[in-house]
Amino acid sequence: MEKGCIFCEILRGERPAVFLYQGDSVVVFKDIHPHAPVHLLIVPRRHIRSVNDLTEQDGDLIAEMILRAREMARESLISESGYKLLFNVERGGGQIIFHLHLHLLGGW
Ligand code: 5GP
Ligand code: ZN
Repeated sequence: MEKGCIFCEILRGERPAVFLYQGDSVVVFKDIHPHAPVHLLIVPRRHIRSVNDLTEQDGDLIAEMILRAREMARESLISESGYKLLFNVERGGGQIIFHLHLHLLGGW
């Protein structure tokens, strides 16, 4: 858990969020400023700054994030219409929250 990290605060229950899934290593909550009718964030419980900080040992976590995103798309009824999965990486890549997360966007 990282001090001053908004997503760690959400994970600790210190900041509200609309959770759709809470697993052992990954959670899903709604983005507070949605850019699509469905905009969810798939977030590891462990504080990892960005994709740059992933290691070979994180393969299972990455797979779990993507498979969880697919499942959330199915539950949100956007599997057939289609969706985007997006990692913003560091400032130049549009990342503003430096706690790894995968965006699920769809439902247009
Ligand atoms: P990034 O640009 O870092 O990839 O995306 C961060 C996302 O987190 C943004 O889409 C932003 O709307 C969302 N966000 C920022 N603060 C909060 C918050 O306090 N709660 C929730 N649920 N989402 C947030
Ligand atoms: Zn964090």
